[in-house]
Amino acid sequence: MEQIQNYIGGELVEPASQGYLENFEPATGEVYSLIADSDERDVEAAAAAAKAAFPAWSTTSSEERFAILMRLCGLIERDLEILAQAESRDNGKPITLARTIDIPRAVANFRFYATAAMHLANESHDTVGRNAINYTLRQPLGVVGCISPWNLPLYLFTWKIAPAIAAGCTVVAKPSEVTPMTAQLLSKLCIEAGLPAGVLNIVHGLGPKVGSAIVGHRDTKAISFTGGTKTGEEIARTAAPMFKKLSLELGGKNPNIIFADCNYEEMLATSVRSSFSNQGEICLCGSRIFVERPLYDRFRNDFVERVKALKVGDPADDGTDVGAIVSKQHFDKIMSYIELAKKEGGEILTGGNSILFPAETRNHKGWFIEPTVIEGLPFDCRTNQEEIFGPVVTIQPFDSEEEVLGYANSVRYGLSATVWTENLSRAHRMAASLESGIVWINCWLLRDLRTPFGGLKDSGVGREGGFEAVRFFTEEKNVCVKISSE
Ligand code: NAD
Repeated sequence: MEQIQNYIGGELVEPASQGYLENFEPATGEVYSLIADSDERDVEAAAAAAKAAFPAWSTTSSEERFAILMRLCGLIERDLEILAQAESRDNGKPITLARTIDIPRAVANFRFYATAAMHLANESHDTVGRNAINYTLRQPLGVVGCISPWNLPLYLFTWKIAPAIAAGCTVVAKPSEVTPMTAQLLSKLCIEAGLPAGVLNIVHGLGPKVGSAIVGHRDTKAISFTGGTKTGEEIARTAAPMFKKLSLELGGKNPNIIFADCNYEEMLATSVRSSFSNQGEICLCGSRIFVERPLYDRFRNDFVERVKALKVGDPADDGTDVGAIVSKQHFDKIMSYIELAKKEGGEILTGGNSILFPAETRNHKGWFIEPTVIEGLPFDCRTNQEEIFGPVVTIQPFDSEEEVLGYANSVRYGLSATVWTENLSRAHRMAASLESGIVWINCWLLRDLRTPFGGLKDSGVGREGGFEAVRFFTEEKNVCVKISSE
């Protein structure tokens, strides 16, 4: 069985423990590969390799860094199909999604940051009347830690690594232990692209062992983390007293707000996508749908009909809309929330069950859940307040802007929100009043990599994206030069 190994000092190496964890394929429920069960010894080796590589990498010209990262882009594009199959198999997501979103976005991340780092400029100020020039010197931080989740494995892993490397830092990174396969393939492509040894080091294994060792390591100067809010709290507890720079991209419970004057067909099609893409396992999915009362009955009927038509099936099939849930543990969590919703008085309009495929299919032991739509729940019940992160949405009517803003902003999270209306003034009013890091008006998941990305409230601190992400991996000095004596 394939062994997923660490990438340290430019080589694929065994974990110090020589132990391996089982890696499951969600669509079959079977173990299909083994993943290095690393610990603080491997993190120590990775940090030492990163530290040794830093002096040369931080002084490599930006043109040379650009050339290496662009070579890597070319190799990811060359292997797009292999990577998409690996991502779909590891995560349970439909192959079409991996092929059209996840892997192309990994290329876009490297390309964007390779280019951005070439264009980053430092400010200088003529301190008039004092015969001085002040300028800002931005230097790469050193060794940094990048930790990512399982839902968009290569997409989010590269979203962190690319700006760090482009900025001139060297990296100790950890992908989720639930979806390690594309990071393993990336290690091989980094070797082929000629990325110098130690610039990127990937340590596989469990969060409390490997992740916490990266966060607590004396040499990691910054931590860029995407994952759950509870894990983010733990990371902040360790990193804050060590005065590390922190970027935390955490959970969400996003509202999808539909006014009666919206472009109905576009709203309907997009709302199905924003609810159930990637089995609802995208931090930006809208899981609470609020519909203005005059449109409510029409929307409910049409939405339920469209959701019933979604094809849940083998992620490897091109025709599949909704694949498998990433792990048994996560499957159990989602099912427990469906039970909770029923106890809280929710009526299941469609879905609500796990799916058992016939014994003769390869999916009969996989973890599948029907896309589920629930109505009749108050905005402040647990189902509507806690992150479920699965194919489960609630729908609820509203009568006024004020009322729906109260519902939307009632949660501890503030990651993203969507508003559907043709009323321009209302769109801007809503955008200003929603407590949310991103507000999409009449669209969803439309991203421009130049814009800052991140959440408000318990959805995180710090911003990724744009030049900000490159700046995050630098430290800034003010240099004041006296140019003549007074
Ligand atoms: P998670 O917090 O369980 O794990 C994320 C990563 O952290 C994994 O690599 C894990 O091994 C590691 N980890 C776990 N414990 C750790 C510790 N004590 N110290 C250091 N690292 C540790 O999250 P998950 O279940 O993999 O991902 C789902 C969550 O991620 C959801 O809450 C989702 O909303 C969130 N998410 C947020 C964004 C965003 O941009 N805000 C994007 C995607 C996912």
